Amino acid sequence: MLSLAEQASNRAYAPYSNYSVGVAILTENGEVFQGANIENISYGATICAERTAIANMRTGGDHRIHTVAVHTPDHGWPCGICLQTIAEFAIDADSTRIVVPSENGFIERSLRELAPYLWSSALVKKK
Ligand SMILES: [Zn+2]
Repeated sequence: MLSLAEQASNRAYAPYSNYSVGVAILTENGEVFQGANIENISYGATICAERTAIANMRTGGDHRIHTVAVHTPDHGWPCGICLQTIAEFAIDADSTRIVVPSENGFIERSLRELAPYLWSSALVKKK
């Protein structure tokens, strides 16, 4: 998964930050979807790699995230808005895992460990 994330980072569009990020999502169904950060001169229009991968997953017909592998130049973790977006499609906060490379291989954490107080769609009444 981490090598697929690194592969995806080669397709990033990051001319302003030079910080290319790639993500590979493994779904509950065993499918893999990749994404990369896409920057914009209007910085607020920039989208992170995690959310492009989630958009690819959703438009590809899948919707439950088992694992998110992230590759950045400095072994970074997903930002807060991406963790919230992952939560929307997580199996649950304990089962869905986030993986980043480390000096000794990789580090894996649950979504709950990274962000224990995310909003949950279970808290919202659906109409
Ligand atoms: Zn992000």
